[in-house]
Amino acid sequence: MSAQPTCLYCQHANPANQSECRQCGMPLPAEAGLAGERRLRRFTWFCVGLTIFCVVMFFWLPRDIA
Ligand SMILES: [Zn+2]
Repeated sequence: MSAQPTCLYCQHANPANQSECRQCGMPLPAEAGLAGERRLRRFTWFCVGLTIFCVVMFFWLPRDIA
C-alpha cells in the first residue's frame, strides 16, 4: 500500500521505493503522504470533538453570570 511519493520541492510524482526525486534529486519523505493523511484525520476529529464540547458547554453553563 505505497502510493506514489510526491516530491515536496517540485511536486513530481515518483515511483514507489524511490529514495530521491527523479526530477530534482531531493530526498523523498518515507510515506509522508500516509502519515500526513493520518495526522489530518486526527486533527479533523479533534476539531469535531472541540466543536461538540463547545456546544455542550454553551447549553450546559448558566447564562445569567453578568
Ligand atoms: Zn523533486
